[in-house]
Amino acid sequence: MNIEELKNQHTLLHEFVYSATEIDRGYNNRTLYVNLSENSCSEKPVSQEMKDKFVGGKGFGLRLLWDDTRPDTRWNDEDNAIVISPGPIAGITQYSGCGKSLVVTISPTTDLVIDSNVGGYFGPFLKFSGFDALEIQGKAEKDVIIVIDGIRQTVRIEEAPAESVDSHLLVEQLTEMYAENEADKANVSVVSSGTAAEHTLIGMLNFSWYDRKRKEVRVKQAGRGGIGTVFRDKRIKAVVAHIAGVKPNLNHVVDLAVIQERGRKFAQEMKELDHEQARMREVGTAHLIEIMDDYDLLPVHNFKYGKHVDTPKIDSKAMFPYFTQNMPDGCWLGCQMSCCKTVENFELKTGPYKGEKVTVEGPEYESAAGLGPNCGIFDLHAICELNFYCDTYGIDTISFGTATAFAMECFENGIINQEITGGLKLNFGNGEAALELIHQMARGEGFGPVVGGGVRKMKQLFASEYGADPGFLQDIGMENKGLEYSQYVSKESLAQQGGYAMTNKGPQHDEAWLIFMDMVNKQIPTFEDKAEALHYFPMFRTWFGLMGLCKLPWNDVEPADNAETDEPAKVPEHVDNYVTVFNAVTGGSIDKHEMIRQSERVYNFQRIFNLRRGYGKREHDAQPYRAAGPVTTEEYESRAERYDTQLRDEIGFDPQGKSVEEKLSVLRKHREGVYERLLDAVYKRRGWTPGGIPTIEHLKDLGMDLPELIETVKPYLK
Ligand code: SF4
Repeated sequence: MNIEELKNQHTLLHEFVYSATEIDRGYNNRTLYVNLSENSCSEKPVSQEMKDKFVGGKGFGLRLLWDDTRPDTRWNDEDNAIVISPGPIAGITQYSGCGKSLVVTISPTTDLVIDSNVGGYFGPFLKFSGFDALEIQGKAEKDVIIVIDGIRQTVRIEEAPAESVDSHLLVEQLTEMYAENEADKANVSVVSSGTAAEHTLIGMLNFSWYDRKRKEVRVKQAGRGGIGTVFRDKRIKAVVAHIAGVKPNLNHVVDLAVIQERGRKFAQEMKELDHEQARMREVGTAHLIEIMDDYDLLPVHNFKYGKHVDTPKIDSKAMFPYFTQNMPDGCWLGCQMSCCKTVENFELKTGPYKGEKVTVEGPEYESAAGLGPNCGIFDLHAICELNFYCDTYGIDTISFGTATAFAMECFENGIINQEITGGLKLNFGNGEAALELIHQMARGEGFGPVVGGGVRKMKQLFASEYGADPGFLQDIGMENKGLEYSQYVSKESLAQQGGYAMTNKGPQHDEAWLIFMDMVNKQIPTFEDKAEALHYFPMFRTWFGLMGLCKLPWNDVEPADNAETDEPAKVPEHVDNYVTVFNAVTGGSIDKHEMIRQSERVYNFQRIFNLRRGYGKREHDAQPYRAAGPVTTEEYESRAERYDTQLRDEIGFDPQGKSVEEKLSVLRKHREGVYERLLDAVYKRRGWTPGGIPTIEHLKDLGMDLPELIETVKPYLK
């Protein structure tokens, strides 16, 4: 069908007419509510209190989700909501990385609130259409699209039966359908998922933008926690935002000149320093592959090892010739870091699109590490093809990689076999089998949906149905709170273990990434130092999610004199830029301390949200042992010298003449003990009880002694 024929199939279910006013210092002061069960739309006001306590982005998402769900709402209940909110700074084009959206929902894999930070133009376009957030509740009977038309100031719910569900086709179809002409395509952004999101719990969302130079629609992913699965469960095929165009000051900021000055300085740093620092413009985050391998931090074979002899086959030097250079690769206007690399004219070898030439987004580090070495796959073509299919089918590359790696280790240990996998030989390194898994996820058949249920569900199934040892599965299954680990080996960094397992949503590195400070640079040696880092950095990083900002321009390039500052890990000059930009947008007067308190309010709110749902306690911050140390004999022996030295020097245990089993046991007891001491130190620093519960005094101090929060924590404080 051509575009006209596709559109003719649409049935208008509801049209909502609204009247937008100018954005005032970064805020519209209202949000959009859509209910798909009732086919209704309405506006909700944003109060000053909501801005003061929740700021925007993830903060607004959490507030709206708390108000509209029950403590026992499940991911596939009608009252679960998906909230997309860009934050007050989002939409600025004069400073790099200001186009992000935060998406929250109740997750199918964790049963907690998941939040995901994503680029693409949708968030700014939602804001320029007149709304600080979009909240979608209810379920449609048939596939629908929601069209937010910021030009005509209407929101339409349309039944849309004929378009593709897979993202690479759908985003092209809808961009062409809603743009008036070629030039107008840049004013359309689409949120979509894919067919595999319907049959798994690890579905993700793609957020699009039109790449004028390449003349094609590009996408960035809100990957974690199964938001795409919720999206398709609601029978949403896509959400479209269409605006008249981007102008320099649509946010009506208080002081544009100040933002421009900071933006220019940052742009100069990128120009002068990026090539000798992270080379983000040339290879994006892929440069991390060789760095992680060098430091024994690259996940190999389900996080067993940290390096591999074949890494040079897939590192950024190997990828460099695949990436197009000197193209505008920013996922929002004005981003000088411009790190969204692509592999173009990539010919697919498998699946329904076999033989077609497509554009692969990335691969970025997390995708490459998860789909590659963690599954023992050191073949760039297989990694790119897996990456493409994850994106178009709406699957989170991180969870797919970690879940597949777990299934592979179980296969190699004889816990599952070919009879169980339907003939798939899930040995490490079998790229063909990994590709078949993902096609099965899209078709909803075979072993694919089992892996697509995530690590936690596989652990339960393999123990109950196939007689596996639950203790062993718990040790090697790299999930915490039900979310699969992202792609760093944390065994030698106690702070990173906390950075992963103490997160509110589950082990995702966007909250705290402390490996280099802790393990490589040895900057945080004591428990108190680590606790301070595990207070500051998660709060600082939360701030990006409140504002609609990308984290990468903060420290993936650093000012030339950064190392000479008092606290180089914080990149003080860039922190000052952010404080300045916030004040220049909103007219506020925060300093770097209030910045942290803004985050703390929302962070504690999220912790208590978890508590309200029956989680959020110390027991939920436990980690699988593989995140802390070697589980198996082969793992110990791969680093025997290091572990023997630690036993002798740090624990006072002489390894001479001892069996590996005995050494594993002593090391484990030690490492589990120090992790518990870390929890004690961090909870104390965060103003929480030893059980991990925020105290009433701390909530009062933060100005977050809201009645609903006090009522939730009280029973746990007796
Ligand atoms: S640094 Fe990269 S991911 Fe972040 S906004 Fe810029 S282009 Fe997007």
